Amino acid sequence: MADYKIGNNLIEHMLLILNIAQRNNISIDLLSEKCTNEDISLPLDPSSIDSIYEIIGFMDEMPGGFLIYHADGNEEIIYANKALLHIFQCNTLAELRYITGNSFRGVVHREDLEAVEESIKKQISRSKHDLDYVEYRIVRKDGTIRWVDDYGHFIHSQTVGDIFYVFISDATEKHNHHLSEKEALLNDKKEKEQKLQTLIEEYDKERKIINQEQLRRLEVIEGLSVNYASILYVDLDTDKVLPYRLSVRNENQFNSEFKAHMFSRYAKDYVNTWVHPEDRSLVARVTTPEYIREKLSNCKTYYVNYRIQSDSTTQYLQLRVVNVSTDKHISQVVMGYRNVDEEILLAKEQQRAMEEALNNAKLANNAKNAFLSNMSHDMRTPLNAIFGYTILAKQHIQTPEAALSYLDKIDSSGKQLLDLIEKVLEISLMESRDIQITETECNLCDILHDIHNTIQLQADEKNISLTVNSTKIEHCDIYRDEEKIKQFLLYLANNAIKYTKTGGKININAVEIERLPNDCSIYRFIVEDTGIGIHKEFLDHIFEPFEREQNTTFSGVYGTGLGLTIAKNIVEMMGGTITAESTVGVGSTFTVTLRLRTQSNPLMVSIDTDRILDQVMHQKILIVDDNEINLEIETEILHGLGFTVATVTNGIDAVNTISNAEPDEYALVLMDIQMPVMDGRRAAQAIRELKNPLLSRIPIIALSANAFEHDKRMSLKCGMDAHLTKPIDVPLLLETIARIIQLRG
Ligand code: ADP
Repeated sequence: MADYKIGNNLIEHMLLILNIAQRNNISIDLLSEKCTNEDISLPLDPSSIDSIYEIIGFMDEMPGGFLIYHADGNEEIIYANKALLHIFQCNTLAELRYITGNSFRGVVHREDLEAVEESIKKQISRSKHDLDYVEYRIVRKDGTIRWVDDYGHFIHSQTVGDIFYVFISDATEKHNHHLSEKEALLNDKKEKEQKLQTLIEEYDKERKIINQEQLRRLEVIEGLSVNYASILYVDLDTDKVLPYRLSVRNENQFNSEFKAHMFSRYAKDYVNTWVHPEDRSLVARVTTPEYIREKLSNCKTYYVNYRIQSDSTTQYLQLRVVNVSTDKHISQVVMGYRNVDEEILLAKEQQRAMEEALNNAKLANNAKNAFLSNMSHDMRTPLNAIFGYTILAKQHIQTPEAALSYLDKIDSSGKQLLDLIEKVLEISLMESRDIQITETECNLCDILHDIHNTIQLQADEKNISLTVNSTKIEHCDIYRDEEKIKQFLLYLANNAIKYTKTGGKININAVEIERLPNDCSIYRFIVEDTGIGIHKEFLDHIFEPFEREQNTTFSGVYGTGLGLTIAKNIVEMMGGTITAESTVGVGSTFTVTLRLRTQSNPLMVSIDTDRILDQVMHQKILIVDDNEINLEIETEILHGLGFTVATVTNGIDAVNTISNAEPDEYALVLMDIQMPVMDGRRAAQAIRELKNPLLSRIPIIALSANAFEHDKRMSLKCGMDAHLTKPIDVPLLLETIARIIQLRG
């Protein structure tokens, strides 16, 4: 009894009781029980026992857990009230002691223990009242885990030394609530952070786009302004000019610094230093604030071109002024200076070219008009002559000499008319591109010989000495269109005779100037005369159609202005070139250069026309023509040449005549093309289809007024041997007949 003394301190009081009970081997569980159990006897007076029961009962009835344990290293449990046992799902303290190892260390979840002990230690050392508060997990009897709050107080008891008494309550719900709150907060925070992040990203994106757009705009502005050597920003209100880009010239104005200057002073200096004196007033006027404002009130921009004087050269510049003011009041403008030298020169050049083209068009038109009036004159002249001399011939029919001279004149006028018609036709053929250059075997020396023969008479008439030289041709046998070579040479030779006065000289030289591989040679044909010559100005236009230096009326020389155009076209179609040189009063030289393919093994075929024609004189020639006049003329001409002639007026009759003829009765057929009943082409085809080859192979020569190239092609396609054009060219007809007969063997 001596060691029992109830103190004022409840905990001390309790410890004392518990100590007594322990010493008397009375379990605390029993003590708790004893509140209702009368059997336990404690060595205490009844009033003390009551107070013990009261205290134990009080503790057990506490709604929260209460634990007392030693504050030494072992932390041995001294007492736990019922509520604490309940938290751990224990019925007795013994049970709690068992599952916790009878230590506070067993009360705390193993994973939280270190932190809890550390925290308690820290709090107690810092707390004036030796109080601490910790939260930790516990493991209950069934293994489930709960969260608890632990309010502890460290005291030194007189009875058992250092102890902790702690109030423990189940804080799982609270903890979970906290946790979910925390989680919600965290989620909320996360969500907000996410939103913020998205906003930042969007902002970044937008900023990037804006930056890119800004950059693009700058690039566009930079690109557009690349031609501008100087770009200035001007504020008219404050009279400031700020350079953005500076040309070498403007660098001087701004001392190479990109700093603002007084605009009025800059503008004045610029005009006086750089602008060409004649343009100074203009540039000064268009750069005054008043002018700028007025001009930009109607439009966004304006420009002015002016000249500047640098060193000794003059250049064209363009000043462009653009309104960049943000409101209606015009104050901010951008001025760009660029060099427009090339543009202006180009524009001037274009203007000059256009004027020239216009001029040329006018000239061409004039030439055409002149040609038409010439043609009208040139057609009427021979026609008048024909009609006039016909009347005269009729009147003098009794005087054969006079009549013959009139007929000669009629003949020459007719030839002039034919020449005109042929040239106009040729030109129209060329324009319709209906001309083809064929390649047949021919001989250049023969061609030159023919030309010589053709023009000798005209040369003799004018007492012109004519030489034709082909001795410098090694390869005379070539492949080319003989007719076309003759044609251009004749045009040149005829002109030489036409434009050379009596007593003059004409040389026609053909030279093989270069031998090429693959059986080709380059030939040069030179037609020289000592004629009237050609003025230099006209020489440039000499090959243009309808161009004549002097018209027929003025020069008295008949011409169309088409011969050289045709000659040039032919030469160019054959891949050659033609040039003209001339000195007025001295003479002219026309040179044609052609590349021609030569024959490697030329057949030495020469035609003895007279001998061949003699062979066919005993045979008949069938003339097929629906036009009586033509029939009469052709018949007379052939009769005059010694041929026997038969005539029919349509294709069917021609076919019948030949199919019923004896094999050698007819030497050949001269076939018109356009005829009633059956035309010449169908008739030729029908003859070629005759069964008797001796008849079906008869030579057929088309003799037609159709002179186009495709007409010739069609005749050959229909089986005819040649196509000649009307009016009849007797030598050509005879030569053609001889050639065909020779070919037939
Ligand atoms: P045409 O002789 O029918 O007038 P051309 O086309 O053959 O037409 O010639 C055009 C012009 O060139 C002639 O009108 C003439 O003024 C000039 N011409 C051509 N050849 C000569 C030449 N050999 N000598 C002087 N002038 C020539």
